[in-house]
Amino acid sequence: MERVILHSDLNNFYASVECLYNPSLRGKPVAVAGDPEARHGIVLAKNYEAKACGVATGNPLWMAKQKCPDIIFVPPHYDLYMKYSQIAKEIYSEYTDQVEPYGLDECWLDVTGSTHLFGDGRRIANELRKRIKFELGVTASVGVSYNKIFAKLGSDMKKPDATTIITSDHFRDVVWPLPVNDLLYVGRATHNKLKRYGIHTIGDLAQADQKLLQNMLGQNGLMLWMFANGLDTSPVSNIGAKSLIKSIGNSTTAPRDLITDEDIRITLMVLCESVSSRMREYGFDIHPAFE
Ligand SMILES: [Mg+2]
Repeated sequence: MERVILHSDLNNFYASVECLYNPSLRGKPVAVAGDPEARHGIVLAKNYEAKACGVATGNPLWMAKQKCPDIIFVPPHYDLYMKYSQIAKEIYSEYTDQVEPYGLDECWLDVTGSTHLFGDGRRIANELRKRIKFELGVTASVGVSYNKIFAKLGSDMKKPDATTIITSDHFRDVVWPLPVNDLLYVGRATHNKLKRYGIHTIGDLAQADQKLLQNMLGQNGLMLWMFANGLDTSPVSNIGAKSLIKSIGNSTTAPRDLITDEDIRITLMVLCESVSSRMREYGFDIHPAFE
């Protein structure tokens, strides 16, 4: 039986949460920025209004300001993003226990076993969007397909607040004309190699010679060929598989160059304090060697 897999992507997640908490930001161009006061601030996320002016994630703040003089920079509130991400996951888990997060704002769901309870993939996707809008106050785009790769592709195709279905019957018409770097795991380096061989669309990749791809990209070449042909069979992991915290860290951008040992000692102290307080919060013991 063909699987029914959903990929839900909360639209402009960070910026949407900021606008939710501060209604005076709504309708204005907003960017979540590392630290507007610091030297190396960049745009971490932006809303549609900022995007319309050409502001892109990763832009230095001066550039964003140049493109969009009215832009409002807000600092990130990760605790809020985590909270909203968690609420979304709780909604998803009412439909299936196979919920696999991909970052804070995206999740795959395998609802194959739940369609007899909740209706087909489209129906579940539409219901999820409605509930997320009502219960979280943000919008989501949902892709529905028979494998994870196409489900993710689908959630990117129509935004915001839309459902996109990609079936095994019509994926060649829908997916193959798309640029090859729309495919998950085609990063910049791979994209450049593919371009050199005249592989520009996902269809080009699907119809490329497997031997050529293997020579060019090794095992990954074959994997991408499978993806392009709709042959991805990787499972959606179980919701219980997540949440094993393996590391806790913290970083900062210093507002000026750290020159003396004292400068560095103080900065390290602040970072260590924040890491150790989070370790205590999660109930971890500190290894005796570090006590
Ligand atoms: Mg998103």
